[in-house]
Amino acid sequence: MAETIFDKIINREIPADIVYEDDQSLAFKDINPQAPVHLLIIPKVRIATINDLKDDQETLIGHLFTVARDLAREMGFDESGYRVVMNCGEQAGQTVFHIHLH
Ligand code: 5GP
Repeated sequence: MAETIFDKIINREIPADIVYEDDQSLAFKDINPQAPVHLLIIPKVRIATINDLKDDQETLIGHLFTVARDLAREMGFDESGYRVVMNCGEQAGQTVFHIHLH
């Protein structure tokens, strides 16, 4: 699959407001926020859409959710609530073909 803007963020080729990083994932602020806090949490490996997920990537995808949980807790809105979204495909509004949790 083709490289996306998110690879450039992972590789520090373009700037982003990065709030979390580990060996598997990266979290940064959405450039066009649709909520008071709008983060994107991505795997470092390139996976275009949910349709491209391999069975052995289940743990990796679960990891994106535990990062979301921890960031919500750290930022203090875990109890008040938050929405987690992953679009799949153009018709669903996906514009960057490197999977990401909003
Ligand atoms: P999608 O529509 O694919 O579910 O979400 C892609 C998201 O990436 C959008 O909310 C969009 O604002 C965000 N985005 C696109 N390009 C950039 C960028 O260069 N930097 C950052 N931080 N966010 C981006």
